[in-house]
Amino acid sequence: MNNLDFFYNQPSPYSLSKEHKREAIELHLSRLDTHHYQNCKSYQNMTNSFRHGNWLSSNSLLMPVRLFKQQELKSVPQEDVFKVLTSSGTTSQVVSRIILDRGTASNQSKVLVKIMQHYLGLQRLPMLIIDHPSVVKDRTSFSARGAGILGLATFGRDHTYALDDDMTINIERVKSFSEKYSGQPVFIFGFTFMIWQYFFQELKAKNIHLNLSDAVLVHSGGWKKLIDVAVDNTVFKQVAYNTCEIKRVHNFYGMVEQVGSIFVECSHGYLHAPDYADIDIISAETMKVLPYGEKGLIAVSSVLPYSYPGHRLLTEDLGTIYGEDNCACGLKGKYFHVHGRVPKAEVRGCSDTHAVEQKL
Ligand SMILES: [Zn+2]
Repeated sequence: MNNLDFFYNQPSPYSLSKEHKREAIELHLSRLDTHHYQNCKSYQNMTNSFRHGNWLSSNSLLMPVRLFKQQELKSVPQEDVFKVLTSSGTTSQVVSRIILDRGTASNQSKVLVKIMQHYLGLQRLPMLIIDHPSVVKDRTSFSARGAGILGLATFGRDHTYALDDDMTINIERVKSFSEKYSGQPVFIFGFTFMIWQYFFQELKAKNIHLNLSDAVLVHSGGWKKLIDVAVDNTVFKQVAYNTCEIKRVHNFYGMVEQVGSIFVECSHGYLHAPDYADIDIISAETMKVLPYGEKGLIAVSSVLPYSYPGHRLLTEDLGTIYGEDNCACGLKGKYFHVHGRVPKAEVRGCSDTHAVEQKL
């Protein structure tokens, strides 16, 4: 049992000041360390191998996210498996497989609700989804994209898909949505690159201006393709405003290995750690925690993963933390930026350093 009532009872998902958070989150994470050590053989083997290694702490293993692509990691009996999440990936990539029991899946949903309601309010808003409807039709395969849309669709009503199955924008549908809900709050969701490429760029090319001034736009997904075409968060927001008058834009950082406890961008443009999760920046050379302001590998922890050992993860993303509890937006928690993926060669270097695969 992974009882998260302490966190659920807080007035908002960004309530805990650093002293309280450190105490609460470390208590939960260390319980999860023990649970996974006792119930997941691979986790136990790795922890034993690295106990004297160069890890963050001798007793808490930081699990490289890529391990979920290489093996099935599970800390509950097979009969408790309720659902398997897979990461999206091109055919050439191996996907992550995340094993969920009912309790973990339920906590993921509850935490996502707490976090999203902070930005969207308690009411379900009319929702424009910047994708095509087929992405969620095959419910047997929970691709990250489909699962992401299904997960967030629960926060909206009158779900309207902006794209057709061939990825072209359906102007009539989009226009009728924006006219129907003109002057009302609406919720727009999609993946960053899809919104940029198939929505904003198409609106620009067709010289169509929408009035979605009361919309909250939430988006996620990698920036890599956008950085390649010199689009950063500032440009993205500017174009959201220029094409659709959208003023409230929230990017979020999350991963299939830690669904639920996502890091959402605040009103001042920083991603924030909610009470349920935390972030550290790790030096790829020394594997030590870096001070605020320095760029390094992102390590994320979450109190949610109980059915699989994903509570402390070392990602292949680069980031910088700017501070904790003192962002100008007023939310508590560490606030940070993500700079994208570690270059491929360095990733290989990292896994050589950790030599995890070889030691299993
Ligand atoms: Zn902030």
